[in-house]
Amino acid sequence: MLDFIKDKKRTDYANNLSVKKENEIVTVMGWVHRRRDLGGLIFIDLRDISGIVQIVFHPENEQVHQKAGKLRNEYVIAVTGKVVSRETGNINKNMSTGEIEIEASELLLLNDSAPLPVQINENVLADENLRLKYRYLDLRREKLKKNMILRHNVVYSIREFLTKKEFFEIETPTLMKSTPEGARDYLVPSRVHKGKFFALPQSPQIYKQLLMISGFDRYFQIARCFRDEDLRADRQPEFTQLDLEMSFANEEMIFQIMEELFAYIFKKNIDLDIPIPFPRLSHRDAMERFGIDKPDLRFDMELIDLSQILEKSEFKVFSGALESKGSVRCVVAKGCASYSRKKIDELISIAKHLGGKGLAFCKVIDNELTAGISKFLSDIEKSQILTESKAENGDLVLFAADSNKIVFKVLAEIRNHFGKELKLYDSNEFNFVWITDFPLFEFDDKNNRWETAHHMFTLPKEEHLKYFDNEADYGKIEGKLYDLVCNGLELSSGSIRCHRLDIQKKIFDVLGFDEKELQEKFGFFLDALKYGTPPHGGIAPGIDRIVMLMAKAESLRDVIAFPKSLQAVDLMSDAPAVVSKEQVKELGIEILDQE
Ligand code: ASP
Repeated sequence: MLDFIKDKKRTDYANNLSVKKENEIVTVMGWVHRRRDLGGLIFIDLRDISGIVQIVFHPENEQVHQKAGKLRNEYVIAVTGKVVSRETGNINKNMSTGEIEIEASELLLLNDSAPLPVQINENVLADENLRLKYRYLDLRREKLKKNMILRHNVVYSIREFLTKKEFFEIETPTLMKSTPEGARDYLVPSRVHKGKFFALPQSPQIYKQLLMISGFDRYFQIARCFRDEDLRADRQPEFTQLDLEMSFANEEMIFQIMEELFAYIFKKNIDLDIPIPFPRLSHRDAMERFGIDKPDLRFDMELIDLSQILEKSEFKVFSGALESKGSVRCVVAKGCASYSRKKIDELISIAKHLGGKGLAFCKVIDNELTAGISKFLSDIEKSQILTESKAENGDLVLFAADSNKIVFKVLAEIRNHFGKELKLYDSNEFNFVWITDFPLFEFDDKNNRWETAHHMFTLPKEEHLKYFDNEADYGKIEGKLYDLVCNGLELSSGSIRCHRLDIQKKIFDVLGFDEKELQEKFGFFLDALKYGTPPHGGIAPGIDRIVMLMAKAESLRDVIAFPKSLQAVDLMSDAPAVVSKEQVKELGIEILDQE
């Protein structure tokens, strides 16, 4: 028999109750988290948004006791009763309400519950896909609940901080013309204008620049962005950015505002002092030293370039790579000389998986490079490698020889692998770094053309403008680009934008846009640049990633209320889904039969 609330009012949340409220009559409402029947006494752990409180039902109160006997896990109840101290032996130090319990005098059964398909138990997690299907139940878990609340608090403190700094929060459209950020667009067909499509924003990039032209000076938005990318580990097709833009700004101003913002939100939400300003590393140095533009600086294990030492190597793998303008580099895994062949093979397969030919190795034993490929090296080479790499007895030296691109990719991954494997870092540390001075363009060998390495609306360095005159120099042009990286995770990308039409046009020229395409895609934006565009720049930190870091969560899915699965589907609602033939027809589109 279910009850209605009628005029019953909640007086307290579970977690508010303590000895301070002893002898007060309170009413709490929530879910039956656990029930224990100890012969006469029935104990219920009642769970609400704030936490858990223990309720005790005495047999003397026969009617209520009988009703309590019918309760099952996840039934929804309202309980009125007296707050009493627990006897010393029954105090539960693991619960913040562990010193008290409520002696129930009234019980309303507000709803029952079918047995749950997934248990709300941190220690016995069901398969993730099943949990995603019943996400609303998984969200009852303490950890996920905490993450969601942290996320709210982080966003709240971002709004608070930026409002104080005179930023305005302005919404930009979700149905819009495509703004490229390097991924595929999610398209929305227009019913009214058949054959035409909106794109969901990959970012509000163009709009925020237009807002600077409008004179808003400082803008931010908690913006949902959509990128239809090939499935990769821990990406979400829709995600949230703190999108931010400032007029009359240079890099220093953006760095400072971001550093202050991060210090503020870390202090306020997880009571952590993060040292600012953050160190800076040029893109070139990041690549040379760590092989990656988002290095995890919590540990050393830097890459060592051996190309010069091995210039005349007789070992074909090395000489071959050097002859084709590649390099030979190594990393030293401390104390790993005892690695079995099987473990080394695992490392080799990581390299192969990344497109490398493999990994060469040597061990340091008795102050000498031995085993592996040591037999192909001369004594001088071996001793120079030892000196250069500072490898010591018991260490394993791993070599990659290939194009720079592959060498960096492989050794960066191997370095990260060892970081985790050898626990080279303190998981409580947050190590922020700015990566700066990125190249503006990259040559795409496959399509035989230049493309933007990051952002086509970025101002090149003034001293590099001369390189636009000669295609052979395009690769030397650096942009006013910066990334904020923490613990090997790219948290934000940003740049000082191209506020001058003449320079923006040069960039489009390099990218090979013809006039017609340019007008079609960006005509309105190029037009706007004519009308007194202030110098401006911005950045867009990923909210999901920041919260993931702060919550020490393992995946983005743990900090998003209703995430997509790794296959980019919503397992709960089963989206994307088939729609009716009429709906499709109305949009003026036709579905080709998919085998
Ligand atoms: N649009 C961003 C920016 O502010 C970059 C991004 O979306 O990744 O530069």
